Amino acid sequence: MISDIHEFFTPAEWSTIKNYADKQDTPCQIIVSDVVERNFLQLRKGMPYAKIYYAVKANPADEIIQLLSRLGACFDVASIYELRQLLRLGVTPDRMSCGNTIKKTDHIKEFYEAGIRLFVSDSEADLRNIAKAAPGSRIFIRMMTEGVLTADWPLSRKFGCQADMIYDLAVLAKKLGLEPYGISFHVGSQQRDIPAWHTAIQKVKYLFDQLAGDGITLRAVNMGGGFPAHYLEKANSTETYCAEITKYLHEDFVDGLPEIFIEPGRSLVGDSGILVTEVVLISRKSRTSLERWVYTDAGLFNGMMETLNESIKYPLYIPKRGVAEKVILAGPTCDSADTMYENFQYELPLNLSIGDRLYWLTTGAYTASYCSVAFNGFPPMPVHVIRLDEEEKK
Ligand SMILES: *Cc1c(COP(=O)(O)O)cnc(C)c1O
Repeated sequence: MISDIHEFFTPAEWSTIKNYADKQDTPCQIIVSDVVERNFLQLRKGMPYAKIYYAVKANPADEIIQLLSRLGACFDVASIYELRQLLRLGVTPDRMSCGNTIKKTDHIKEFYEAGIRLFVSDSEADLRNIAKAAPGSRIFIRMMTEGVLTADWPLSRKFGCQADMIYDLAVLAKKLGLEPYGISFHVGSQQRDIPAWHTAIQKVKYLFDQLAGDGITLRAVNMGGGFPAHYLEKANSTETYCAEITKYLHEDFVDGLPEIFIEPGRSLVGDSGILVTEVVLISRKSRTSLERWVYTDAGLFNGMMETLNESIKYPLYIPKRGVAEKVILAGPTCDSADTMYENFQYELPLNLSIGDRLYWLTTGAYTASYCSVAFNGFPPMPVHVIRLDEEEKK
């Protein structure tokens, strides 16, 4: 299974990217910032009414933050470390929210002192900590969602709470002097079932009505991430996601939309990344074995974490052609968990050799940011952010 590079980049674009890549050691990540920009503009066009908070964890490269900041994005920040990075890059606190429901009181205080006034919570203890360390702040209460089976990287059971608890927390927030501002949810990352948003929006509307009846007027819905990048398993286009979700919103909020927030990570940066790797070793486990093991210099600990349980199936491009047979793809470290694809059928040419380069496509999200510091001594991979028109001029 070798993908056609021209489904991802034009011949001219690929030639620019490959020229750049040829000068780099492997493994490395190349981010084509033009693609990030295009994806951002496309999402903004599809949901012009929504405030876009980029989920920094998907790819925190400075250049990506700066680009999105210039385009007018806001940022969903999960820790004081991301906060400090964004402040260093000149992002103002009115464009940040603290979206992590799991946080220390000291850290809430640092967010508050930096000027952040928008927090997400899903538990009484956290809400009380926010009331103490960030008095008067606006609160999104996070709702638990379904969609675990249709998301390629589900999130939901760890986060959010059920409707009865949301109700209680909204009432408590008000009592504690906070401003219950809205309800947030995340239907699961790379959510391929668009109706998952409908189910969530319906529940949110029900809670809006219930709380309004008791004197609490919520203002906003935060629909989280879940929008797609282009992997081997097909997903609908971003336009289709936007059109369908917009329709759901108007169906449920017939009297006009509340403020809408979205927090895309994967869909903005996923398609922009190319992970450039090299074959370290090719072997068979017995004289008659039909499968080759192909070990590459990138694995789960340095970029390919989302191949855990073979969840995300990245498109793979190699220039070599020829008769292809099944391989098992594994990383370079001394841990058998560092095996990317054993069940899924990647077939690579029999003439593949040690030293050949493999280009993993759609690897801009949750790759570089997931690298271990130095498992087995392997360093995190370098990230190169390039702009195609500028590279072409060189
Ligand atoms: C990770 C995360 C996101 C981004 O999700 P994607 O599926 O990558 O778009 C958005 N919001 C929150 C709260 C998250 O934790």
